[in-house]
Amino acid sequence: QAKKQGKDRLEVFEPALQAAFQASLQMEADLRRAVIRHEFELRYQPIVQLKTGEITGLEALVRWQHPDRGIIPPLDFIPMAEETSMIVPIGEWVLREACRQAARWNARRDGKQPLTVSVNISAVQLDQTDLPRVVAAALASSGLPAACLVIELTESLLVHHRVSTLQQLEEIKDLGVRLAIDDFGTGYSSLAYLRRFPVDIIKIDKSFVDDVGDVPAAAALTLGIIQLGQALNLSTIAEGIEDAGQLSELTDGNCELGQGYYFAEPLNDKALGELLFPGS
Ligand code: C2E
Ligand code: MG
Ligand code: MG
Ligand code: MG
Repeated sequence: QAKKQGKDRLEVFEPALQAAFQASLQMEADLRRAVIRHEFELRYQPIVQLKTGEITGLEALVRWQHPDRGIIPPLDFIPMAEETSMIVPIGEWVLREACRQAARWNARRDGKQPLTVSVNISAVQLDQTDLPRVVAAALASSGLPAACLVIELTESLLVHHRVSTLQQLEEIKDLGVRLAIDDFGTGYSSLAYLRRFPVDIIKIDKSFVDDVGDVPAAAALTLGIIQLGQALNLSTIAEGIEDAGQLSELTDGNCELGQGYYFAEPLNDKALGELLFPGS
């Protein structure tokens, strides 16, 4: 009887499962083609000094320009790229392209402080490639100084770290590159990672910033993270600032840097070039 029920249930769900399976096979084939045909693009979101509004850096964010489906955001394809290891060539391209473009912009900023560029890295890249070597090669071929590059790591990467993870991160730091913890505060034991990993920058997750102006608990936590950063000599970047109320709350709390739609969305090369070099 139980077996019969189980079988009936399977039949009910089978068409939906079948369709999902087909879609995922199609997506995987599309992604393989995308890697070969270079269908990826970068957007750059300005990171600003909160007190002055001055742009001090950029975060590179990947997009997939699919020939039929248009622009596909990273959260819709990075998980599959990680499962299939295609994140390795994609991530290497992102790193090279971001360094190349940042070096080109910095060459035009005569006199001004050079911009930093932040690149998101997946755990799979640390597990499956010699990431320090890939980073060193991207710096060498672009001419970007190591001090201008920031590698962003998620807390989940640090949770599931291997023995070699820490060693690779130390090697990357030895190049002169800085490390940031992305989405800080959303993981299981954020504080432990600050001691164990050689990070330089904390990025306060948008979920805290969202409520900083109107939920006292969110404000207290956000200010606490900023003070923690100061005590440990780390820079703090608030993510996802969308309005003036959030900005003033964060500025009053002495948060150094921020990014968000309030300042600028992630922009393509051309739009960012116009923002950085108006009228040229
Ligand atoms: P993330 O690194 O935390 O990046 C911040 C995300 O927040 C970006 O989404 C950005 O567009 C969005 N954002 C920025 N300001 C605001 C705001 O004011 N309001 C709102 N609602 N959103 C804002 P995006 O570009 O869709 O990227 C999502 C995630 O995908 C990133 O989160 C990062 O984890 C991952 N990702 C992006 N590019 C890469 C990449 O090249 N490699 C890897 N491994 N992951 C990437
Ligand atoms: Mg990031
Ligand atoms: Mg983030
Ligand atoms: Mg986030």
